[in-house]
Amino acid sequence: MTKHIFVTGGVVSSLGKGLTSASIAMLLESRGLRVKMQKLDPYINVDPGTMSPYQHGEVYVLDDGSETDLDLGHYERFTTTHLTRQSNYTTGQIYQSVINKERRGEFLGKTVQVIPHITNEIKEVVLQLDDADTDVVITEIGGTVGDIESLPFLEAIRQIPLERGRENCMFIHLTLVPFLKAAGELKTKPTQHSVGIMRQIGIQPDILVCRTERSLDTSDREKIALFCNVPLHSVIEERDKDFSIYEVPLSLQANKIDDLILKQLGLPAASANLEGWHDILHRLRNPEHEVSIALVGKYAEHRDAYKSIYEALDHGGIANYTQVRVQAIKSEEIELNGAEKTLAGFDALIVPGGFGERGVEGKVEAIQYARERNLPFLGICLGMQCAVIDFARNVAGLTDAHSTEFFRDTPHPVICLMDEQEGVTEKGGTMRLGSQPALLSDGSKSALAYGVSEISERHRHRYEFNGGYRQQLEEAGLVIAGTNSDESLVEIVEVADHPWFVAVQFHPEFKSKPTAAHPLFAGLVAAAVAHHAGVKT
Ligand code: GLN
Repeated sequence: MTKHIFVTGGVVSSLGKGLTSASIAMLLESRGLRVKMQKLDPYINVDPGTMSPYQHGEVYVLDDGSETDLDLGHYERFTTTHLTRQSNYTTGQIYQSVINKERRGEFLGKTVQVIPHITNEIKEVVLQLDDADTDVVITEIGGTVGDIESLPFLEAIRQIPLERGRENCMFIHLTLVPFLKAAGELKTKPTQHSVGIMRQIGIQPDILVCRTERSLDTSDREKIALFCNVPLHSVIEERDKDFSIYEVPLSLQANKIDDLILKQLGLPAASANLEGWHDILHRLRNPEHEVSIALVGKYAEHRDAYKSIYEALDHGGIANYTQVRVQAIKSEEIELNGAEKTLAGFDALIVPGGFGERGVEGKVEAIQYARERNLPFLGICLGMQCAVIDFARNVAGLTDAHSTEFFRDTPHPVICLMDEQEGVTEKGGTMRLGSQPALLSDGSKSALAYGVSEISERHRHRYEFNGGYRQQLEEAGLVIAGTNSDESLVEIVEVADHPWFVAVQFHPEFKSKPTAAHPLFAGLVAAAVAHHAGVKT
């Protein structure tokens, strides 16, 4: 029978529930178990696809094209679990489904209510993940215990042990134990209150994971155990990690969280194999090179907006024994101060995806600088579209070339709306989304980096390279290094006679892992190392 672990959070948001859930899943996989993961988000948006990165951080795209919460990125980076549309639900989706059922008359005239109809729907989306090939399902509940919108989710997971057996379910509650400078001590009261709220709802946590900046001493742990009604060994400390998020699973393992879970759920325990993970940390701790990479996008102060790109750059660093320092720069700053002044001293440039006109000229200018100065460059989605605009304007002589996303009546629409997007007015879930195959051109940098000629990558866009300009741009020297299967869409462009100028229409950052860096990120970092050493690749 599939077992269920529910991860909740209390006291404050941003405690790292996603990371903790991913770390637990990784530890269970390392003990030989087959794990599935899922996140339930209490907001009303149907998915985060239409939310601003300021509100929500990046939108993480899965193979099947679902636009999901960025915590799912942690799940994929830490584990081998296969994520699908069933891996992320929001209050919006739950209500939408219940309302559709009501319209179809499926409730047979009953009054449709939060309890039982919404809670039943939530239970259904959790329990649908049970199957003979899954030992454990980990379900993370977004938000913070005590929020009004979390209530139906907590009520639903309270009921699941009644149906599945308490011995087959576990509740792990993440909480904050703050250090109060004035008192000079750690405070356990917020944790007591947060567990108190859980118990009012009817959920007794089995394990408390205590986020803290200082070590808990035995008396703190005893106090938490006594007042929160859990055994002392189930009070697990999770100290802040200044060095790397990839330390989290190892520190949880040092506190024996995997043993506790296996014992309580009665699961067979193979011994852990964490060699690969230790190797990651060894490489991070012993870099042989250091490079600095400029990330020129719309946002600079908001790391979550480009979460997977930061992670993938770290992975490229791990693959190359290199410490990668990333400096986020607002592209508008380049419009103000010029590329020369802003980008001097960097070893590589990366221009990420994005929407909207603000800062686009700064991105084009940064790319022109990288192209002309032999600075290694990786363009992603809008970054690739800007690379095509630069090349058209400044190499092929198509002055005023632009994307119709930003200048509808441009005389040279080198980037234009995809045919399939004509007439699409709804914003949610309507882009070209998810994994699509692509063919790589022999001899291109990309083909060399991937080491294969056919790839599959995740997409999220409405605009594309305008095929009508393909011949003209190729004649001017642009390398079409990748297309989709019938060659109608350009997926990758490169510039020859440049150490590393690769721009892709898809999002390679979503498929990079610490244990297996994405080839394009490994390639960019390798080129940055060579640039730093002043060597031409
Ligand atoms: N705005 C561009 C498009 O829709 C790029 C999208 C992206 O960078 N994800 O095609």
